Amino acid sequence: MRVRFAPSPTGFLHIGNARTAVINYLIAKKQNAEYIIRIEDTDRERSTIESEISILNDLKWLGINWTEGPDIDKGHGPYRQSERDDIYREYTEKLISSGNAFRCFCSREQVEEDKNKAMAENKPFLDRCRDLSIEEQEKLAAEGKEFTVKFKVPENEAITFEDKIKGTVTFNSSNIGGDFIIVRSDGGPVYNYIVSIDDALMEVTHVIRGEDHLSNTPKQMLIAKALGLPRPEYAHLPLILGSDKKKLSKRHGITSVDLYKEEGYLPEALMNYLGLLGWATESGEELLEFETLVELFDISNISKSPAVFDFQKLKWMNGNYIKKYQVDKLTDMLIPYIEDAGFSTSGIPRENLEGIISILRNSCEILSDIKGLIGIFLNDVNEPDEQTDSHLKEDYATDIIKIASEVINEVNEETFTSDFIAKIKEKSPHKGKKLFHPIRAMVTGRLSGPDLDLAIPHIGFENLKKRVEYASKRYC
Ligand code: GLU
Repeated sequence: MRVRFAPSPTGFLHIGNARTAVINYLIAKKQNAEYIIRIEDTDRERSTIESEISILNDLKWLGINWTEGPDIDKGHGPYRQSERDDIYREYTEKLISSGNAFRCFCSREQVEEDKNKAMAENKPFLDRCRDLSIEEQEKLAAEGKEFTVKFKVPENEAITFEDKIKGTVTFNSSNIGGDFIIVRSDGGPVYNYIVSIDDALMEVTHVIRGEDHLSNTPKQMLIAKALGLPRPEYAHLPLILGSDKKKLSKRHGITSVDLYKEEGYLPEALMNYLGLLGWATESGEELLEFETLVELFDISNISKSPAVFDFQKLKWMNGNYIKKYQVDKLTDMLIPYIEDAGFSTSGIPRENLEGIISILRNSCEILSDIKGLIGIFLNDVNEPDEQTDSHLKEDYATDIIKIASEVINEVNEETFTSDFIAKIKEKSPHKGKKLFHPIRAMVTGRLSGPDLDLAIPHIGFENLKKRVEYASKRYC
């Protein structure tokens, strides 16, 4: 079995395409199949090497290890379509000489006019160059007349295939819209044409791709047939929609893989989420390590209807994968985010940093969540947010702040971790929430957060003093 992922390097790796890449990978792993990367850079104007590099990096980051591609030639290369022009040219000659394709010398306007006329007369559109003899075509071409090459679409032919997800799919060739261009006037071959050649020459056995390509399939099948090339099996993955059931777009949330990486999503979470999109395990279990995902995955389980992308669920999954990391490794992963929030970590003893991370890790669903939390520990003083501010203005809160101002002078570097809260408690006329909420608000600048007993040692005596002083000045 040989599968392929065929990105067009015209931008970043889109989450929908990443899903296609992941599904192909699960199948490849399950069947021990070859996984080919083919770069579809036929759109010379929009394709860039930067985009190719970034897509390949994102695939690697996701954990996809292809076995053949631009960097691993196993005899089916080149793996970039822009480097395969000679191959395509040969096949174009074949199609023309066998009468399956023809050079068309009509202008776009002429074709448009003929099409409209045919439509008005309720007749099928037939290209006026379709019956030029090969000699006539060659003569006109030799005269320097500009031409495109068009594939001759047979009339009224049923094109049927068994789609691994959609079941039996049948198209009628008459609905293709007439003869279609396979080589543009600048000599560039078009996607639908060369995909059939490449899939055959690269011996791809299974094409698994998004449903947006379904309408291309009959064209690709006709071309393969005309060239006497084998055609692969097909599976078209239903589209991914946003929560409003509209096609997934930036309006719904992040759509490019590099941004997920930047925000601190973990590749294992994305692999899990994308691999499970559109089907469910029998037990309902959703957190599936890669090996289990491969084991349980079966393409026939994928629902025929579109999948809804649930950003919250992905976040939740990510949080669960974060929990699996040892604090040491997680600290390394979080340091860039902490630095990015403007804190230097180099002066903080590693033990202290890991202590802080072990307290905050459960509040992080994605790595960048640390940015909004780390200040609890590393800022000298935390400006209270609006809600905390009005809370600290309450009478019982000012009582606690006053007591804390006395207590902070009674404890020292050695004793503050055990005595600070204990002594406030001793002296406080308030109990429960009216006691603990103000302490938390005064010490952290917010109303919820980590367990204070655990947090205070890592905040340190110096910062604790500053925070009590600040609250006292501001509220008392
Ligand atoms: N290059 C196409 C795309 O990026 C994929 C073509 C295919 O899978 O057949 O959408």
